[in-house]
Formats: sequence, C-alpha cells, structure tokens
Amino acid sequence: MSSAGGSSRAGGVDLGGTRVAAENLRIGGCSAATTPVERVGFHLVDLARRQVRYLRLSLTDRCNYRCVYCMPAEGATVAPRADLLDFDELVRTCRLFVGLGIRHVRLTGGEPLVRRDVVDLIGRIAAIDGIADLAMTTNAHLLAELAAPLRRAGLRRLNVSLDTLDPERFASLTRGGDLQRVLDGLRAAHDAGFRAIKLNAVVVRGRNEVDLAPLAAFAAEHGHVLRFIEYMPIGLDDTWSGADGQGGGFLAAAEMKNNLVAHGWRFDDAQAAPAAGVVGGGPARYERVHHPEHGALDLGFITAVSDHFCATCNRVRVTATGVLRECLSAPGRLSLREAMRAGSSDAELAAMVQDALLGKVEGHRFAVGEQTYEAMSSIGG
Ligand code: SAM
Ligand code: SF4
Repeated sequence: MSSAGGSSRAGGVDLGGTRVAAENLRIGGCSAATTPVERVGFHLVDLARRQVRYLRLSLTDRCNYRCVYCMPAEGATVAPRADLLDFDELVRTCRLFVGLGIRHVRLTGGEPLVRRDVVDLIGRIAAIDGIADLAMTTNAHLLAELAAPLRRAGLRRLNVSLDTLDPERFASLTRGGDLQRVLDGLRAAHDAGFRAIKLNAVVVRGRNEVDLAPLAAFAAEHGHVLRFIEYMPIGLDDTWSGADGQGGGFLAAAEMKNNLVAHGWRFDDAQAAPAAGVVGGGPARYERVHHPEHGALDLGFITAVSDHFCATCNRVRVTATGVLRECLSAPGRLSLREAMRAGSSDAELAAMVQDALLGKVEGHRFAVGEQTYEAMSSIGG
C-alpha cells in the first residue's frame, strides 16, 4: 500500500484500544479474511460503524485569499504542481468513491475556482453515473464569471464563504479579498439558477461577532441558508489561540445564539432540525429562526469544537495531492496519487480505501494547546 507519510501497518493497527490483526486488514476482494469493516449494501463503514456517504474532494491547495483562520499572513506552502491530482486522476477518484457507495461529492480547495479549466472538470465529474449531489465550496471571488458555465456543466449546489458584509472587515479577514466581487458572484449564481445557496461564516472573537446579525438579515432577505462555523484550531496561525494562548479567538455557538437573540432573532423551533428544505447531509444542525423585520431564515451551526459531531461523521476527504484523510484532524496515510501512478487497479484502490478507513479515529481532540499547524486550504476544510 502506498503511504502518505504515516506509520507502518505491518502487524496490524491499534485503534483506541482495539487491536486489529494484520490479516484482518485486507478486504474488498484482496483477501477472504473476516474483517471488522463491513460493506453494508455498497456503503463504506468504519470501525465505529459509521457509514461514509460523503466525499470532500480538493481540486487545488492554491487560493486567491489568505483568510486569517485558514493560513498564515505570508500564505500557505503549496505542493509542486506535478503533485496535484490531474483531471483524469480526480475523475477516477470520484468514480472510485461512487463505486463504493458515495453519492454526495463536494469540491473544495484551496479555492476550487482557481483551478484552470475547472468548468471542463465539473462537466466530467457531473457525467459520472451515480452522483446524486455535486456541490462546491468557494470564496466566490471568481463566481460572477463562472456561475453560469458551472451550472451548465452540472454543478448543482454552492456554499459560499462570507464572514462579514463590511468591505473593510472583509478585506482584513481575507487579507485582501473584495467583498463586492463576492456579492456579484452571489447574484450571478442566483441568476444562473442556484437556489438555497449556503453562506458559511467562520466566527472569530474580536473580528466579526458584530457581523452575526447583519449576515442573518442578509441571508433571510436573499433566501440563502446561513451557517455559522466555530473556529477550529487548524490553520498555522495564532489567531485561534489568541494573545493569552487560551483560545482567545474562539467563540462558541451558544454565544453566537445569544448574540442573535439580542438582535431580535427568535429560536422558536429549536427542536425542529433540520429546517425544511435544507439539503446536505453535513454536520450542521439547522433551525428555522424568525425575525420581526427580516422574516424566516434556515440557520445552521457547525459546532466542531463546543459539541463535536464525530459520532455521526459520514465523510472522508481527499486532498489536492491525493491523500485520503479519514478525519479532518488526522494526517492521512494513504496516497491515492502514488497508488494510481504506481499502476494500481480500481479494485486495488477500492481495497486500499476500505482498509484505510480502519484507521479513522473515533473523534478529534480539538482543544486549547492541540492546535493543528496545518493550513486548512491544504486539507480542504
Ligand atoms: N476556498 C473555499 C472557501 O473558502 O469557501 C473552499 C476551501 S475552505 C478551506 C473551506 C471552508 O473551510 C470555508 O468555509 C472556510 O471558511 C472554512 N475554514 C477554513 N479555516 C477554518 C478554521 N480554522 N475553522 C473553521 N472553518 C475554517
Ligand atoms: Fe482560501 Fe478558503 Fe482558506 Fe480563505 S478559507 S484562505 S478562501 S482556502
């Protein structure tokens, strides 16, 4: 098996106290040995019996922004171009996971729209039989030009990162981003036929908690779904830890809610998640909230730190360089790129993926002092 720079699997692996013998690590046609990983229908299942249904595939580790929560001021180190999966490899990766039962594919980055000829790539991925939901997460800097071609190519859903509606704060949080381009991109996406666009806002204490209420009003007025994301301690930057080293940039979802309530938002249907009409299958917990002036809004919180959702995690990630990451917080060990370039067959790749899932940790351990010094842009968010 190709390794992405981790520990050797020889002799088996130790997973939270469960020792898995080496002979039980080979499955999916490579060995008849019984194994703790099963295929239920065609779904990938890990040791904690979580079904994997969702692939986040990174198209590039490059980005035209340098958000404070994602990478350091000088930008993230990027991989040599030759190490990025090429279009054939990206399409093959999608086919591989569709063959393993994945139906939801989200394209991410870095910034996916900076990948040259991205529209052609979307067309090829959209043509794969079996993908029920093809979506993208983007900063929208290039969306005004690309929304209509992306829609025609087969992209069905969009998440747009937007942390503030104040042009100066936007430029400061993204280190140079242009808010007007994002707003133009959102309008173009709506005109191109994208609906229920999800806005993603990472909330950083001292930087944009003042933007919670304006973002909620904006999303309600435009028919967007809004998700507030807790700032995760990943990102090669000390903004999370704060000056005191105690997580000074972190703001929990409960506090975000209080802030919104203070601005007139009512959480009447707090138990009624998910809100009607929100498609996704991701980790956000949605509620339909109301405001006397702005009306109703489908609002989600991604509480990766204060109340993690690892027990129901249904996703895997593949980085732009082809590394399979079973968990956001753990470095991957399987390089699909190396395996593909070494001539592995589809059946061998499928077996490697199932095998790698044995190493999926039961949960992350995000906490003060456990910051992952790795740019989110190189993982895919
Ligand atoms: N460039 C695209 C964008 O920003 O939408 C896609 C890649 S970005 C890495 C994916 C998502 O990760 C974005 O919504 C971004 O806000 C989020 N993100 C980045 N760093 C984060 C952090 N430290 N904590 C929480 N979310 C983060
Ligand atoms: Fe780029 Fe997205 Fe990271 Fe911001 S969050 S620097 S837009 S990859």
